[in-house]
Amino acid sequence: AEGRVYNFSAGPSVMPLEVLEEVQREMVNYKGCGMSVMEMSHRSKEFMAIAAEAEKNLRDIFGVPGDYTVLMMQGGATLQFSSIPLNMLGTKTKADYLVTGQWGEKAHKECNKYGTGQLACNTKPTKFTTIPQKSEWKLDLDAAYVHYCANETVNGVEFSYTPDVGEVPLVADMSSNFCSKPIEVSKHAFIYAGIQKNLGPAGMSVGFLRPDFADGSKELKICPTYCSFKTTGDNGPMYNTPACFTMYVMGEYLKYTKKVGGLAYWAEMSDKKSSLLYGAIDGSSGFYNCPVEKSARSRMNVPFTINGGDEALEKKFLDEAKKHKLFTLAGHRSVGGCRASLYNGMPLEGVEKLTDFMKSFMDENR
Ligand code: PMP
Repeated sequence: AEGRVYNFSAGPSVMPLEVLEEVQREMVNYKGCGMSVMEMSHRSKEFMAIAAEAEKNLRDIFGVPGDYTVLMMQGGATLQFSSIPLNMLGTKTKADYLVTGQWGEKAHKECNKYGTGQLACNTKPTKFTTIPQKSEWKLDLDAAYVHYCANETVNGVEFSYTPDVGEVPLVADMSSNFCSKPIEVSKHAFIYAGIQKNLGPAGMSVGFLRPDFADGSKELKICPTYCSFKTTGDNGPMYNTPACFTMYVMGEYLKYTKKVGGLAYWAEMSDKKSSLLYGAIDGSSGFYNCPVEKSARSRMNVPFTINGGDEALEKKFLDEAKKHKLFTLAGHRSVGGCRASLYNGMPLEGVEKLTDFMKSFMDENR
């Protein structure tokens, strides 16, 4: 569409144009029912069908085991940082956190309001640029669960495997790499993700929950009804008014995902796009630098500095990039530098444009 730019935002983020255009087509009069999805009751038959289809497509696309509950919840992943201890600690008091970036750090901190969050590892001293070997993790066999963040959006650190934590229930924040590759749902007790990176607009999160945590048996007495996994699970997404429009757009994104070839397709594209960008960075003889150890590099969020962190040059880079329709490339305000997020909505062509620009900028400024 005319005037659109290549948007490398870390989230909310670029969506496939086809999805936006379908939403546009259906905006004012949804399937001839005379109103927009924004305007209809969440109990209408049209909306109930939208919600049911979204859940079915989540199950199909992610291969969710039949006995797992699919949760569609309001609030972003931040609300889940609280809901997890509130629903999963049970009679235990401790939970382990593998902290490999700023989001895992926030999740850990929230646990301490309701119990004791233990640091099974913490890579802060490396400025969150590594994932330690399992032999270095301090796992407590008596922990209620082990939490990890599958992809650290700010620091650009991604697990390329499912951590093996034995019998202790495994919990994953997949907010920023959800829907970018197939996942091993059954190895997890709970997977959750805000959807505003790879699967839609902001406003809700999705969860896959193992049955032993869906029955309320481990819910703390102080757990707000709104946060209760049992209440949400028992009522589908309809305990209260859901984020209807966001859920509908997610549904369109899921249909599109099926059409293009499912998670395998997004995985192939993510590998292609990230290899291209890391290749440009690593091939620049240090003009560009990604601080993250190679084995822990994210396919979704690629942080990099220019000329050893030359802030004036980075500003010039960001300004000139805009002239080439390359937008939102500044690093997170807490780390500075640059960051390119390569979510599903970013076409390969956008990353090609970015790497071409990076080469010419290097030639002119080194
Ligand atoms: N976890 C991760 C990995 C994230 O990237 C984010 C948001 N960027 C959050 C949690 C918090 O999500 P929200 O802002 O939707 O609450």
